[in-house]
Amino acid sequence: MLVDRYNRKINYLRISVTDRCNLRCIYCMPKEGIPKLSHKEILRYEELLKIVRVAVQKGISKFRITGGEPLIRKDVIHFIQQLANIPGVRDISLTTNGVLLYQMAEELYNAGIHGINVSMDTLDPTKYMRITGRDYFNHVWRGIEHAEQIGFFPIKLNVVVMRGLNDDEILDFAKLTLDKPYHIRFIEFMPIGPEGVRHTERFISGPEIKSRIQALRKLIPVKSQSFDGPARRFKFRFAKGEIGFISPLSHPFCSSCNRLRLTADGKLRGCLFSDEGIDIKTSLRNGCSHEELGDLLISAITHKPKGHHFGEETFKRCASPMIRIGG
Ligand code: SAM
Ligand code: SF4
Repeated sequence: MLVDRYNRKINYLRISVTDRCNLRCIYCMPKEGIPKLSHKEILRYEELLKIVRVAVQKGISKFRITGGEPLIRKDVIHFIQQLANIPGVRDISLTTNGVLLYQMAEELYNAGIHGINVSMDTLDPTKYMRITGRDYFNHVWRGIEHAEQIGFFPIKLNVVVMRGLNDDEILDFAKLTLDKPYHIRFIEFMPIGPEGVRHTERFISGPEIKSRIQALRKLIPVKSQSFDGPARRFKFRFAKGEIGFISPLSHPFCSSCNRLRLTADGKLRGCLFSDEGIDIKTSLRNGCSHEELGDLLISAITHKPKGHHFGEETFKRCASPMIRIGG
């Protein structure tokens, strides 16, 4: 088992398979876009699988495929199948914008992914266009409903809440859980990457979102079996779905953070808010042994910071946008 210097058990690796995307979300991608990594700079699937094999030996059993938009990377289904076949890989999930979900859902399910997070910040097609820069609202909803029919569970809808943009839809999202088995995750807007959307103006805290919902109806806490993620989970009585709050700024979960991140260009990062990362790609391409790879993993865990410093004077906005790190 991997334990870091703050006694946190690390058993979860988030793998970003690409820095590219078919959307342009205003909170993730700077308006002017970002220079794309070249093919050579991105870790190949066999390199990713090698890292996963070593990670499993060290005690990591939970994996998430993310990006950029993971479903646009060529042959991602085959990669997931291979990942699922590695002994010791117990749980694979996916974070996607859902644009390609409708056509890929069945193959994804058969490849071994049964839980998905779909980013959906609005229930209004016009606003969707404003937030993401693209007109794919109906594609995404069709994909979500199709995934539900196929049997994906849980289906979590990630909603980044921004004041004056989509906070008027908080109650509509919450009410959706009455009839739909979706887990709505209200995520605090994070100050990551170059200033795009003004954070101070748009930020709205988890507690504020929660109190607006509670004014509508009582929220009942959902007991989780173990530490199954950073969301504080609730539901309405008799609701089919759940409501969760991911509040990294107002309720940091750093003290129980169990994750490492692997960026598409092969850096192991201990924290979303820190620009520090350990270059694993160079060693891999120089033919390092399994043991050496294992040492790099341990080193990344050793350097995992105690927490982020948002709200403190020492807080430094990390320079990489989410699309580069893998959200
Ligand atoms: N493209 C996929 C998607 O959108 O689901 C996966 C990658 S995306 C970077 C992962 C998650 O990060 C999404 O749910 C997105 O909403 C979230 N995200 C990106 N930038 C964010 C920010 N500044 N604050 C909060 N969440 C953010
Ligand atoms: Fe693309 Fe996801 Fe970033 Fe939106 S949040 S631009 S879908 S990577």
